[in-house]
Amino acid sequence: MQIDLITLDIKLAMREPGCPICRLRQRTEKRYLLGILRENVNDSATRAKISRSWGFCPKHGWQLQHLEEDIWHDGLGNAIIYQDLTRQVISWLGSFSSVQEQVQSERLPKKIAGKVRKFLGKSAGGGGGVCPACAMGAQSERTYLEWMARWLPQPEFRDLYESSDGLCLDHLRYALDIAEEKNPEAVGILVGTALDKLRTLDERLEEYIGKHGWHRHTEEMSGEELASWKKAVAFFSGEENACP
Ligand SMILES: [Zn+2]
Ligand SMILES: [Zn+2]
Repeated sequence: MQIDLITLDIKLAMREPGCPICRLRQRTEKRYLLGILRENVNDSATRAKISRSWGFCPKHGWQLQHLEEDIWHDGLGNAIIYQDLTRQVISWLGSFSSVQEQVQSERLPKKIAGKVRKFLGKSAGGGGGVCPACAMGAQSERTYLEWMARWLPQPEFRDLYESSDGLCLDHLRYALDIAEEKNPEAVGILVGTALDKLRTLDERLEEYIGKHGWHRHTEEMSGEELASWKKAVAFFSGEENACP
C-alpha cells in the first residue's frame, strides 16, 4: 500500500462511525473476497491458499456466499471453489477407505482416524492454514495501526482521532502494543482518549438505564443515550459490520 493512501484511508475512516481499524480491516477483507469472486476463482495460487485452510473461517465463508448471492444473484464462483475442496477431501478419504478394506488390523482404524483428523485440521498446510481473508485483514490491521501510532502525536491527526469514535478494546490493546514498540509518544494519547470516551459512554449508559426506571420513564432519551448500549457492545466486542 502507498504511504499517502494509508494515511488518507485512516483519516477517512476516523470520520466514519465506529472503530476506524475495525472498519479498515473489514473493508480489506471484503475487497479481498470480492477480488476472488471477480477475477480469481480460477487462479491456481488463490485456490491453493484456500485449500490450505479448507476454505474460510465461518465469518468469511458465509460472507463470500452472501456477497456472490447479493451482487450476482448466483453461486457459480462459490460452487467452483467448493467443488475443488470437496474433490480433495473425497480423494483423501477414499484413499484411507480403500486401505482399510485391504488391510485387516486392529490398530488400523485408530491410525486412520488420527491421519484423517490431521489432514482435515486447519493447519494441514504446515501452519499456512489460516483463513486467507483473515490473514489479509490481519496484515492490513497491523499496517494501519503502525501508521496510526506513528502519526498520532501530529496535531491534525490527533484532533481527528479525538473527535472520532475511537478504537474498540481489541484494537486499543493492539495499538498500545505497537505504540509502545514504535512510538511511545502515542501511548498517552491512546489512553487519554479512551478514558474520555469511556467516561462519556458511562454517562450515557447511566442515563439510558436511569430513564428505564419508574420515576424517569417519561423522560425523552437523546440519540446518543439510545445508542449507548450498542456502542458499549461495539467497544468490547468490536464493530459487527462497520463496512457493509
Ligand atoms: Zn476495532
Ligand atoms: Zn476469516
